[in-house]
Amino acid sequence: MATELTLGIIKPDGVQKVLIGEIVSRIQKAGLRVIGLRLTHLSQQEAEAFYAVHKARPFYGDLVSFMIRGPVAVLAIEGENAIARWRELMGATDPAKAAPGTIRKDFASNIEENTVHGSDSPATAAVEVPFFFRTTELHRQG
Ligand code: ADP
Ligand code: MG
Repeated sequence: MATELTLGIIKPDGVQKVLIGEIVSRIQKAGLRVIGLRLTHLSQQEAEAFYAVHKARPFYGDLVSFMIRGPVAVLAIEGENAIARWRELMGATDPAKAAPGTIRKDFASNIEENTVHGSDSPATAAVEVPFFFRTTELHRQG
């Protein structure tokens, strides 16, 4: 196993439900480190670009609309095996199928408004972290 860097997003439903503190706390209690953190409100162009991989999916338009509905929190998360471990904390895409104690099981409304995003592989993380953070915005002794 290696130290990995991954992207997390607290989606508009999570910010609206005042879950930023709870979610950051779960990440840190799991032993992962938040080395970048900021609030932003995605433009339509940014949301379309971020989710370009899903362009052909029937839910793409709705997903983009949802993601620009309100502000999001973007997080750069680092630690041993961080990519898989952050996705474990998140739970399955569909909250109805998510394991007990996961963020999506505890807080998500449905398969679309599912509270959090996490990079799904090292290759994805290598694109998604720089999408939101310059290297000068990552702080390992923060
Ligand atoms: P994950 O976020 O778990 O990696 P995907 O990459 O498959 O899931 O999908 C990206 C996002 O698109 C999901 O988090 C969710 O917000 C939305 N989504 C996925 N599947 C559906 C669906 N069947 N209907 C509506 N929205 C969906
Ligand atoms: Mg995904």
